[in-house]
Amino acid sequence: MPLHGDISGGSRLDTWWDTYSVRAEHLRESEVRSLFAVVARPEVVSLAGGMPNIKDLPLEALAESTAQVMREHGTQALQYGAGRGWDPLREKICEVMALEQIDGDYENVVITTGSQQAVDLLSQIFINPGDVVLVEAPSYLGSLGIFANNLADIRHVAMDQDGLLPDALEAAIKQARSEGKAVKFVYTIPNFHNPAGVTQTMERRRAIVDLCERERVLIVEDNPYGLLGFDGQTRPALQSLNPDGVVYLGSFSKMFAPGYRVGWALAPHAVRDKLVLANESAVLSPSMMAQMTIHAYLRDFDWWGQVKQYRGMYKARRDAMLESLEEYMPSCSWTVPQGGFYTWVTLPKGLDAKEMLPRAVAGLVAYVSGTAFFADGQGRDHLRLSYCFPPPEEIREGVRRLARVVNREKAL
Ligand code: PMP
Repeated sequence: MPLHGDISGGSRLDTWWDTYSVRAEHLRESEVRSLFAVVARPEVVSLAGGMPNIKDLPLEALAESTAQVMREHGTQALQYGAGRGWDPLREKICEVMALEQIDGDYENVVITTGSQQAVDLLSQIFINPGDVVLVEAPSYLGSLGIFANNLADIRHVAMDQDGLLPDALEAAIKQARSEGKAVKFVYTIPNFHNPAGVTQTMERRRAIVDLCERERVLIVEDNPYGLLGFDGQTRPALQSLNPDGVVYLGSFSKMFAPGYRVGWALAPHAVRDKLVLANESAVLSPSMMAQMTIHAYLRDFDWWGQVKQYRGMYKARRDAMLESLEEYMPSCSWTVPQGGFYTWVTLPKGLDAKEMLPRAVAGLVAYVSGTAFFADGQGRDHLRLSYCFPPPEEIREGVRRLARVVNREKAL
């Protein structure tokens, strides 16, 4: 009987080892979660996690607003709701999406438990074991985990500083089809990519949408960071270029707060119907309390002012990170994010981000190895640095420590 490691790092005898599904065999602890314990040590500067910095939210006013929801609509807020989500919030979400030139019908919005759950529901309704899902190289590790759990054949497509490369995408579609494989969708993060830190140009967006329309491949557009552009601009969503060919995913996690666990999908009508059924099957209904509280926030607060405050705060941190990379790590290269939380660093030749990580932690700095963002073991020459959480002085100190580790590795 095999010994299985548990999440706390110990191991124990698993009496049920021969009972699990094939799916369960594909569940893996993410490289980020396994860093959590390390990162919690106060002496370690963590440039690893992607936790939004919510410390400046007006907590007292939010407490009052939450209490008001409870006092005035408590029996509704504490009841089950519709599987598609609460209509007033679905309507408000359409106003938010209009900022990215989306002309969405609230009937086609499905509220989910974070956009992470929307990725899961989409995977359930589209992926058969062995089906191809095309993702950027690199891609968001949370979605890679979901695609793997659904036994997808995950294929990475090259990107550059302007995002996913249409030629490479076309070649990947043709290659998969020549093998007799079904290509179920392209999963893309057009704005302030996690982890690559790049943003698709308008030209690129058009080319990707045109290609997918021509090839009849669905696009899943994952856009949790879209409002957090440092230039104050919002960019047209891929969905706005072809509403019938794109499922758009949005989230309140980064523009407001992740603890509510409220996200959404805007989908072509027939896909929306399947998503609602899958959502009902998974959770019956998304949390009414969370939905009504967020609705009150959008209605009564200066939420756009809050988004602007976030942008300014994250931009100052991005600047601190780029300046200290320039100063301390000239042997590396990195992307220059125009928004969001992350930069993607390329190490000098011969260095291995995954192997180096324990030595970085010993040097009191943490990052996520590039390997976490690939389904196929690539990414050793890269690492993701996040600047969202630590204050600027700590970011500088973290990069200084990381530079020491990198320089030592180079000398080996
Ligand atoms: N997609 C991307 C690209 C993300 O970075 C994240 C959060 N890190 C998510 C989805 C999940 O967000 P949510 O909190 O809405 O589930």
